Amino acid sequence: MKRETGILAKTWPLRDTTPATTINPPTYRGSTVLFADYSEMLKVGCHEYEGITYGTDRLPTQRQFEEAMRQLEGGAVTRVLQSGIAAIQTALMAFTKSGDHILVCDNAYGPGQRFCRKVLKKFNIDFTPIPAGVGADIEQYLKPNTVLILLESPGSITFEIQDIPAITAIARQKNIVTVLDATWATPLYLKPFDLGVDVTIHSVTKYISGYSDVLAGTVTVNERYGQSFERFYKLMEIYTPAEECYLALRGLHSLATRLRQHEQSALTVARWLQTVPLIDEVLHPALPCHPEHHLWRRDFTGSSGLFSFTFKKDYTDKQLASFVDSLQLFALGYSWGGYKSLLTAAKVKRATPSRYAKKTIVRLSIGLEDCDDLIRDLEKGFAMLT
Ligand SMILES: *Cc1c(COP(=O)(O)O)cnc(C)c1O
Repeated sequence: MKRETGILAKTWPLRDTTPATTINPPTYRGSTVLFADYSEMLKVGCHEYEGITYGTDRLPTQRQFEEAMRQLEGGAVTRVLQSGIAAIQTALMAFTKSGDHILVCDNAYGPGQRFCRKVLKKFNIDFTPIPAGVGADIEQYLKPNTVLILLESPGSITFEIQDIPAITAIARQKNIVTVLDATWATPLYLKPFDLGVDVTIHSVTKYISGYSDVLAGTVTVNERYGQSFERFYKLMEIYTPAEECYLALRGLHSLATRLRQHEQSALTVARWLQTVPLIDEVLHPALPCHPEHHLWRRDFTGSSGLFSFTFKKDYTDKQLASFVDSLQLFALGYSWGGYKSLLTAAKVKRATPSRYAKKTIVRLSIGLEDCDDLIRDLEKGFAMLT
């Protein structure tokens, strides 16, 4: 045996030291997972092997994050995916087939709706957008072949809230799967399974990871559909890289503390915005003026740091640029839920009548900076518009 070969072969597993126990779990990277002996390997073929067989069989770091999310949400099965949009796509594919029809709430994440329009359509799955504030009136949109309803509450740009229990009560009677993107509330401020939802989606990219350096998503499923989703995930040989799972797991430990600060700062900024003469509406579910505030109070236990506002005047892009570009603490960029405050401003496109049609929606993700500094930054920015 060549010297180098021998050395490399002997460094793992560690022989002479007890493995150190760190607070955080080790990160398992790997394609090949070793079997103890040939008899163990033979068990795989007859489905008797209980260990992990391969890198796509969900290595321990991935399994640990999934289990933490499953417990937080109170679901039966959780699987992690490489992004929030991948979680949406996978949930939709798992529960539909050619000839089916699905309903999608009009405020649901844009790329998810595009996936329905451009990809599911190709596989002969029909899709109808429904109003963002839908409740028991969902009945009128159902077709005999409707198999799934995709909800997002509140929507992450215009913050309409759906009457989730009213929808799930109807769906349950007709064996229609309800999928709820609950990214805004996180698993801490909404318990969708208690409201009759079958499947929840979280973009882990946002508050759960918390530092804008992770892309990941989860799908959590109730007892009723858990096994069928588990089988689909396995069949697709999906996996999520260990580093992303590690960072997501780490983020969970500080989620409650970070969220409390995001919530408090966002409410302070939102209430201040209500006093600014240029501002028309502040779209924040926890403000009593929000059109579905009563539903938020009934179903949610807190609010996060993402909300929007509209101006009284319709400013030109150039005027908006003078406001936006003057800000020093709010950075311009997509995504949200991290420590850095972010802003986006755009007109929303909707397929159904919306109270915000044609309005520029300025969306703020309130980060962990000092709240008075954020208000001062906005105040200086608004001065550019007067
Ligand atoms: C960002 C987002 C997603 C997609 O998550 P990615 O991890 O960025 O793919 C899905 N749903 C909502 C509500 C989001 O805000």
